[in-house]
This record gives sequence, C-alpha cells and structure tokens, in this order.
Amino acid sequence: KKIVIAIDGYSSCGKSTTAKLVAAELGYAYIDTGAMYRAVTLYFLTHHVSLTNPKEVNDALDKIDITFHYNPKVKRNEVFLNGLNVEDEIRKMYISNQVSEVSVVKEVRHAMVAQQQKMGKKRGVVMDGRDIGTAVFPDAEVKIFMTADVDTRARRRQDELLEKKQLINLDEIKENLLKRDLIDSTRQESPLRRADDAFLLDTSHMTIDEQVEFVLNKVTS
Ligand code: C5P
Repeated sequence: KKIVIAIDGYSSCGKSTTAKLVAAELGYAYIDTGAMYRAVTLYFLTHHVSLTNPKEVNDALDKIDITFHYNPKVKRNEVFLNGLNVEDEIRKMYISNQVSEVSVVKEVRHAMVAQQQKMGKKRGVVMDGRDIGTAVFPDAEVKIFMTADVDTRARRRQDELLEKKQLINLDEIKENLLKRDLIDSTRQESPLRRADDAFLLDTSHMTIDEQVEFVLNKVTS
C-alpha cells in the first residue's frame, strides 16, 4: 500500500537530499514544496507584486502555474514556472532572502497547500517542507521532523551553493537560515513545528545514508 511520507524541519537540515533518495528507493514521487514557494517568490519579485494587497496577490497566483518534471540526467524533479525551468534561479540568495516573507501570506499558502494536496492525493509521495505533517497531510503515514545545529547547516548550504558556483560567506548563509527559521516558525498560518506524531531526526552527526536508513526504517516498521 502506497503511503505519504512527510518530511518537515528547519532550513538546510538535509530534508531534500534525504527525501529525494527515499523517494527513489521506494519508487515514489518526490515533491519539494520549498521549490514551489521559491517559484512564487521569483514571480512576485519579477512582477513587483505587493504582498500587502490581497487582490494583487490573488491575481498573480491565478497567473502562476507550477509544475515538476523529472530530469533523468540529475535523477530528480525540477521545478517549472509557467513552462520555464527555474530550478537554478530559485536557489539563488536573492530568492532565499525573500521567500519566507512571501510564504507568510495567507493566500499564497492556501494556493500552495491545495496544489500539494492534489499532487499527493494518490499517495506514493515523499513531500518535504515546513507544514506537510501538520497542515498539508496531517494524515501522513510517516512523519519526520529534521533538525541540525546551525553551523552544520550553514556549512552544508555553503557547499551546495558552491556546487552551483555561488560563493557566499558563512555568516551571510547563517543569518539567512536563522532569519527564515524565525519567520517560518512564528507566522500565523501553519507555522513550522513538529507534529505530535513526527519522529525527531537530528542530522548534525549523521551521514546521508544514515538519514535515509532512518526514514526507510520508519516506513517498514
Ligand atoms: O525548503 P526550502 O528551504 O527551499 O524552503 C524555502 C522557504 O519556503 C522556507 O524558508 C519557508 O519560508 C517556505 N516554505 C514554507 N512551507 C513549506 C515549504 C517551504 O513556508 N511547506
């Protein structure tokens, strides 16, 4: 029987790396919900959408089409905004610096959550984000809540950015992670928090293989 695996937690704990590998192992779809909020942010920035104007926000959301397409070369889903591959663009720092402010907006969350529920309706998905186990799929069969100490997270994020040829200093990355965690966990609409029935996974001293094992063990047990 196919299930939903919800992986939530703080920024840069290894959620997407783990989720992607778990999905591949089970033959499930992997859905990176952070990529959806990042794509909305890219659209809002390029179209100068005012976050405090609900009509502008709703009109913009009506014009936004977010889809995932599997790229066999990198063995993962890539995110498309209105038919354009924005996978690289949305990982840049200027998006990371704005995405949490955009994710606070109620209308944005409602639109994204509705689409995520549709994408996972047939089960057989691994979804990572901040509110999957609490708001998107409160009935997910397996819930994981990931954390790691902030220095480890900042270093991992720096390595990821470096792979994409973006050289950002550690302090700037750390500041961004802490700022997002604060906004994400204190917003009114479905804030980041551990669901009561989520397993806590601290990845500070774990390898990726160990993280994947941990999740797969919860699936089979
Ligand atoms: O997962 P990632 O770090 O790419 O997410 C970027 C941002 O998107 C988060 O910091 C958060 O503000 C927002 N987000 C959210 N709810 C989700 C996933 C991401 O609010 N389910």
